Amino acid sequence: MNTTDFDLLVIGAGSGGVRAARMAAGYGARVAVAESQALGGTCVNVGCVPKKLFVYAAEFSHALSDARGYGWEMPAADFDWPTLRDNKTKEIERLNGIYQKLLEESGATLLRGKARLLDAHRVAIADREYHARHILIATGGRPFIPEFPGREHALNSDDMFYLEQLPERIAIVGGGYIAVEFSGIFKGLGIEIDLIYRRDRLLRGFDTELGETLAAQMQERGIRIHFNTEVERIEPAGAEFRASLSGGGQLTAGAFLYATGRKANTSGLGLENTRVQTGDGGAIRTDGSFCTAEPSIYAIGDVTGRVELTPVAIREAMVLTRNLFGDGEATAMDYDNIPSAVFSQPAIGTVGLSEQQARERFANVRVYRSEFRPLKATLGGGGDRALIKLVVDADSDRVLGCHMLGDHAGEIIQGFAVAVQMGATKADFDRTIGIHPTAAEEFVTLR
Ligand code: NDP
Repeated sequence: MNTTDFDLLVIGAGSGGVRAARMAAGYGARVAVAESQALGGTCVNVGCVPKKLFVYAAEFSHALSDARGYGWEMPAADFDWPTLRDNKTKEIERLNGIYQKLLEESGATLLRGKARLLDAHRVAIADREYHARHILIATGGRPFIPEFPGREHALNSDDMFYLEQLPERIAIVGGGYIAVEFSGIFKGLGIEIDLIYRRDRLLRGFDTELGETLAAQMQERGIRIHFNTEVERIEPAGAEFRASLSGGGQLTAGAFLYATGRKANTSGLGLENTRVQTGDGGAIRTDGSFCTAEPSIYAIGDVTGRVELTPVAIREAMVLTRNLFGDGEATAMDYDNIPSAVFSQPAIGTVGLSEQQARERFANVRVYRSEFRPLKATLGGGGDRALIKLVVDADSDRVLGCHMLGDHAGEIIQGFAVAVQMGATKADFDRTIGIHPTAAEEFVTLR
């Protein structure tokens, strides 16, 4: 068998893998990237990007109903799912091409096929064997659906991007990012939505007020939320499916989407041929330098189960490749103050500590909050509310957390994340002049 040598062989051409390959090639390393599916990974193909396009599509329905209060008269609007789905797919294919171009231009070699580790330095891909000084596993994750009777009738988030047609009613199981995002998307596209969640508050891990206020807003928009409820079984019921729920109820829907988390994508990777260790849910264990228990093998991104966010995987790729191939001093990844957005409707943006986390870690916590009706809703009608919240360490006056629920929350919090990252105090926020009239100005006028 021919063997080709590389300094770095990256397995997985998603957000983290592609960034690592391009950066390493930029440092002059001989780099290869193995990918068996479309380039760009989850984010580009069945995650962030197509999801956001669907969010835009769904927001039109709210805008159309708001428009009447602003004097627009129009006939009832029709929505055509195949147009949205196929336009989205065309855009994703365009992005796949851009990823390929970026990789080629960087000088990295793209190897098509499923990669299997043979040992600490050798990888088999499509009947060929490659040798690499360093191997980087960046294979991401895949949707997880728990075992239960009728599991075969459940869909996952990947499936939702390619549905042949939209059912009239969709039931969504879970209470995390994907469950609330897809609830808003499909509700906006005119589908009846039942959200089934096993606990009593959405978005565990976020500031509790965000989950509570979001649930109220989702219900206001007509989403039925079944808290403290689990699906016991799903069975076909004519053209639809019927779920038996804990507590004895039943629920019928054309599709059941399980948004019950994701697991590391390591099957068939040949980890057993190496010393690489896995932990919870099969996630690859690494040290602070992304190194696995096999010194030549590294892992970044969702496959490590650490923080499953695209920009985190990209930053990990940059830190790792700089440390491996750059000539500066080694740096460490900073996991504090990672901002994130949930593209629910309304959206959530958040950075830093929740009120609950702050109270656990700091003796004196001050909380500033404002809940208000956004100006746009005054003429638009409907029951939209926005929530803005600052969590402050009373002893140092430092802003520990900045949270928002409302239109453009992701865009707004990205800016405030810089201030929180820099260690801004409440006094710094107070000294900042607001931009009027905006929702974001509330952050600098909270008293
Ligand atoms: P999350 O971890 O956000 O949520 C999973 C949900 O499923 C939780 O509510 C969890 O409940 C519930 N759940 C887990 N197991 C079961 C079970 N056996 N039965 C019933 N319910 C169950 O995962 P998602 O799938 O929503 O998303 C995966 C990850 O992808 C996210 O964590 C996030 O990091 C990333 N992502 C980021 C986005 C963004 O940045 N906007 C968008 C989408 C995804 P419980 O709370 O009780 O554990």
